[in-house]
Amino acid sequence: MEIITIKKLVSEAQCYEAIRTLRWQENVSCVHCDSLEVIKRGYHSNQAFRQRYECKACQKRFDDLTETYLEGHHQPLSVWILCLYFMGLNLSNAQIARELDLNKDDLQFMTEHLRTGIDKKKPEILSGEVECDELYLVAGHKGQPEKVREANREPRCRRLKGARGRGTLAAEKPPVFGMIQRTGEVRIWMLENVQQDTIKPIILSAIAPGTLIFTDEYNIYNRLEEWGFKHKTVNHSQGEYARDEDGDGFCEVHSNTMEGFWSLLRPWLRPHRGISQDKLPLYLSFFEFVHNVRKRGKALLSSLLSTLVKKSLQSHI
Ligand SMILES: [Zn+2]
Repeated sequence: MEIITIKKLVSEAQCYEAIRTLRWQENVSCVHCDSLEVIKRGYHSNQAFRQRYECKACQKRFDDLTETYLEGHHQPLSVWILCLYFMGLNLSNAQIARELDLNKDDLQFMTEHLRTGIDKKKPEILSGEVECDELYLVAGHKGQPEKVREANREPRCRRLKGARGRGTLAAEKPPVFGMIQRTGEVRIWMLENVQQDTIKPIILSAIAPGTLIFTDEYNIYNRLEEWGFKHKTVNHSQGEYARDEDGDGFCEVHSNTMEGFWSLLRPWLRPHRGISQDKLPLYLSFFEFVHNVRKRGKALLSSLLSTLVKKSLQSHI
């Protein structure tokens, strides 16, 4: 009996239809000059469902995929979309390669390309109440991929003594720096090291001035007020995990939101054995996106695809 694969069941025609809906809704606008005076100009010579257009204003031509992350590839669009769908379900590269009958190198190229496209979309500036914290992973250097996993969490008291060399890229323990707005979005970055000079530009670019920031008592956070923020700390080394400072019965001084996010990130990374540290930022930003759109499955696929067909993404490269 012939094997029925998902690849054979998904239609190219409907994939292109989905792209047109996400990209243009009702009105096709010229990708070169934004004019709406656009006429259809038949279909692509090799891809029967890829609509071509001509702009009456600037005379230039384009098609459904022009200037998107899905343009100019050998694999059919349906294979790219299925790949993205499986990435949203957090399958490993090896699993997706098996599902789509692709070799590992081709698949690796595809997932990296798609992750790069998603990486261009950055969250809003964080404000209000924001928690900052770090997580330590283990990753190999380029060319010597090792499984990325969470490093053993050392007691917080060791940090407070300022143990040098812990959690640096050189030590193959990439620190991941997280900033999360309570009831809002999250930003995560892989750091070279955990020092004030390293986190300062990241915090200044991601968090609005004057924001109230909650951290533990690690000394990298000592200058937040000097940098223009309000700052409250929770002292984990003394066994304190939340404190009710204003006496209203709510323990508002904590970093539980960030801890909650880390507890989602760790299992998300687990299937991806062998992420080298030069690739780790792309995995982090993909999960940042997934978390921030707060969608899974079918709804996540729409969000991922509409991000990849936004023309504006390309201009930032
Ligand atoms: Zn035009």
